[in-house]
Amino acid sequence: MQKAAPSIEAINKELPQTQCQKCGFNGCKPYAEAILNGEPINQCPPGGDQVIKELANLMGQKPIPLNQAHGVFETRKVAVVREEECIGCTKCLPACPVDAILGSAKRMHVVITSECSGCELCVDPCPVDCIEMKLINQEEQPNELGITGNNVDQNLRDHWASRHNKKTTRTARLAKSLFSQKSEHLKHTKKFSREKARAEIQKAIVRARERKEFLKFRAPREPDES
Ligand code: SF4
Ligand code: SF4
Repeated sequence: MQKAAPSIEAINKELPQTQCQKCGFNGCKPYAEAILNGEPINQCPPGGDQVIKELANLMGQKPIPLNQAHGVFETRKVAVVREEECIGCTKCLPACPVDAILGSAKRMHVVITSECSGCELCVDPCPVDCIEMKLINQEEQPNELGITGNNVDQNLRDHWASRHNKKTTRTARLAKSLFSQKSEHLKHTKKFSREKARAEIQKAIVRARERKEFLKFRAPREPDES
């Protein structure tokens, strides 16, 4: 008997939840959906061979080597902001898929190490290159959820997945509200210009009528006496 296809949730559970997009999808869950629809199982560099093995087992496939076009497997790092160089531009905030960066406009930003998934997505948007990825030092940066290199425990994976989920929902809600505000504004602008155009046409009609009346009742000129 053929093995039943696993659920998206079951596939997603095997993924590291770094939410780094290196697989080419907007997070781990979209990649899980794609795997269910036939995408190769070897596109997740943070997961490396271990995740490929687990996915292969789940999908009833043979393990294959990591596709290095998506990146290479590395020991997990966390982002650190060099505080004295940060200009508080806020460009890194929307980039973080798990909301691990604290800061506001013109204020120095800080990465909450215990929340950082190590996705590296905040590095490129920084205009002054003040974010660097550093190896986790367990002594200096203990993590209450238990980071041990790449061997991230399920609690922490679930935590990142849930933060990513919340952020995605919030961003979508914000985009929807901005879109409806913009449409409302456009509607008013259009209404206003339509009303303005109608008033202008009305004025032109009145002017034309007045001119017609004026020409009709204008006294005929005396014939030229010369
Ligand atoms: S950890 Fe990164 S590469 Fe792996 S599935 Fe998640 S988003 Fe994709
Ligand atoms: S702080 Fe940077 S590296 Fe860490 S999770 Fe956020 S975007 Fe990724």
